[in-house]
This record gives sequence, C-alpha cells and structure tokens, in this order.
Amino acid sequence: MGDQESATAAAGMRYLREELTAMRPRAIGNKPRATRVHGDLPCDLDLLDHLVSTRSDLIETTRALLADNPPPTPIPRPPVGEGIFQWSIDVTAHLPEEKQQVREAIAYRKVLEQKILTGDRRAIRTHRCPACRCYSLMWRAVIERAVCIQDECHDELGRASQWELKQIAHHHVTSRPQRAAN
Ligand SMILES: [Zn+2]
Repeated sequence: MGDQESATAAAGMRYLREELTAMRPRAIGNKPRATRVHGDLPCDLDLLDHLVSTRSDLIETTRALLADNPPPTPIPRPPVGEGIFQWSIDVTAHLPEEKQQVREAIAYRKVLEQKILTGDRRAIRTHRCPACRCYSLMWRAVIERAVCIQDECHDELGRASQWELKQIAHHHVTSRPQRAAN
C-alpha cells in the first residue's frame, strides 16, 4: 500500500512538473516550444507552491525522524524530482512502524492536497469519517476541512465533525492494519 501511494504521489509530481515546464514561454532547446495558454494562473502558482512544499515537508519530516535513529548507511542526498517519496521510504526503512507511519501520513497528506488542488472531488469521499467510520465526508474549501454529513456525527459543541487533511491522512495510515484484519 505504501509503495502504491508513493507511486501515485510520484506520478502526481511528475504531472505537475510537466505542467510547469509547459508554462515556460521559451524553449530551452533549438526549436521554440508552443506556448500553452493557461487561463488560470493562480491555480498553477498554487501547484508550484505545493510542489515545493511537498519536497521540503518530506525532507524536514524525514530528517526529524532520523535525528535520534540514523540509518546504518550514509543518507543519500534527497533527489529534486518525484524520487523524493522513494528516498524518504528508503532512508527510514530501519525505523519502527509507528515512526514510518508519521512519514507515510505526511506523504499521504501531500497526495490529498494535490488531488484537491487539481479538482479531484473524490479525493475525500473515498475516506471514512474518523469518528463515525462512514463514507460521509465532504470537502469544504472555505474552511479547508472535510465535514461529516451524518446527522448524528458531531463534535462536543454540536457542530458537524470536521477534519483537517492531516487528521484524515493520519487516520488512513494508522487504521490500515485494522482494515487488513477485517
Ligand atoms: Zn462522521
């Protein structure tokens, strides 16, 4: 599962890189590249921000996890492209399960962020609500949280229960063994 998500995330990063490369007005090679018309520049900048933050968040998290428990072999330099996901998996492979779940949850959150940025509305709906365990989550962009639409699922203040992406990602990663057992 972890490998699959890493592959999904890597494919997503590759897609973003291609999009961003296509945005460049002039060619790097001999022939001029056809200029692509992007009517939605703010969105592309959001994607660029996301690409940059994905890399830095993964490196930061990985380094923090390794601080007390460095790997037996020297840590290779983190790659610039989509290989960053595999890099973080490889250099934390010796860590206990719960530490690796921290790294997985960060990577998975970045995948969810990217799907939301690119308009994938199913990204959230395919996850169970961490409270009621129903497939009842809807993404609310205004508050940047998923809201549970089950009537009886609410917080201590009586509001519909709300979840940040990091909470959904954490729940997804940590509930995996239970799902396997079921
Ligand atoms: Zn719920």
